[in-house]
Amino acid sequence: MTELDNLQKLYSFGEDIQLKSGPFGKYVVNKVKKDIGDIILQSDRPICYGVQPFLVPLVCITCFKEFDQTSKTNSNSKDIKSKKKSGSTKSLPYSCNQCDQVYYCSLECRDYSLAHPLELHNNMECLALRNLKIPANTFTFHQITEIRMMINLFSKLAYITADSDREYLQHQYEQIQHLIGEFGNTDAFSKEDLKMIKKMAHIIRRSFQMYHYELDDGVVEEMLAKSQRNCFGIWKNFEQSLGLAMYPSSSFFNHSCYPNCCRVQFGAFIKILPIRPIDENEELNISYISVNQSQHERKSILLEGYCFECQCTRCKLPTTSETLQTIENVIQNYLCKNKKVKCSGYMVMNNETNLKYCNFCKWNDPTTPK
Ligand SMILES: [Zn+2]
Ligand SMILES: [Zn+2]
Ligand SMILES: [Zn+2]
Ligand SMILES: [Zn+2]
Repeated sequence: MTELDNLQKLYSFGEDIQLKSGPFGKYVVNKVKKDIGDIILQSDRPICYGVQPFLVPLVCITCFKEFDQTSKTNSNSKDIKSKKKSGSTKSLPYSCNQCDQVYYCSLECRDYSLAHPLELHNNMECLALRNLKIPANTFTFHQITEIRMMINLFSKLAYITADSDREYLQHQYEQIQHLIGEFGNTDAFSKEDLKMIKKMAHIIRRSFQMYHYELDDGVVEEMLAKSQRNCFGIWKNFEQSLGLAMYPSSSFFNHSCYPNCCRVQFGAFIKILPIRPIDENEELNISYISVNQSQHERKSILLEGYCFECQCTRCKLPTTSETLQTIENVIQNYLCKNKKVKCSGYMVMNNETNLKYCNFCKWNDPTTPK
């Protein structure tokens, strides 16, 4: 078996998707013609996740449901805790009673988490989160979320006792190890990036040290570098992200400003769905940014935030090209049509309702043509 065959198996790509390797790295190709309404990829739960620090009491870690701050809380529920500070912000009804750093929307979600310590939350994470000391004015909220996500990852390693668990985790670690973003790669990371990763790694290691669990510096830095290049935002809407999560198999869908697929979040799971018909052997792409921007805007966001110069068809074609005009029209056609919100989503098809809906704001288009 070649390396690619092994990776194809490691990420469970199946028959419909093929992992390939080219001059710009690995990418995935469509093997069976797909139409809107089909599914390209369906994820497992994320390997690790982190909730934005200021949203911790409001987001269920099992289903990623957010507590609706505007809804009236059930007066019969005695478990509802209210934040003393603000008085108005209510938190989710159930929390981990070991650490008070993890919240659930229902008993069902809490029980699921308790039964799956290697998937969601365990005693080691309780200890590490309780001991997590974030120095003031050093990290952004995004970076603190990344730190929490790595604590989630390493707490599983710290927790395992049985060999079967070790095998399960080894498989997950391997999935991260083969992603792009080597810590030593100075093309992928600026000097400032690397300095910041070192700072973050230090905080993560220290949160475990108190409990005599020694993490290797190199391992933590390597995992942080991978996660920076490959983690996904868990988005509440166009403006607000609830946190971050890693779905390694989705990381091989490279960026294009003229994508043929998009990612849809369903609770803790994600699906990659086609936004237009996709031919056999076509490369599968998603867009990392809003495609409804000028070429100049897209290029600078990608260079700054993702460290690459976009080489997609839409960026390479001359502005006078007729093909480019066609592409621009196709894109306008599949953008979210919800007039009530500013949304950068795409319309995808729900085969059960026969209605198109937005992958982001989940708005249903009642005028979907048959
Ligand atoms: Zn839940
Ligand atoms: Zn806990
Ligand atoms: Zn582009
Ligand atoms: Zn939308």
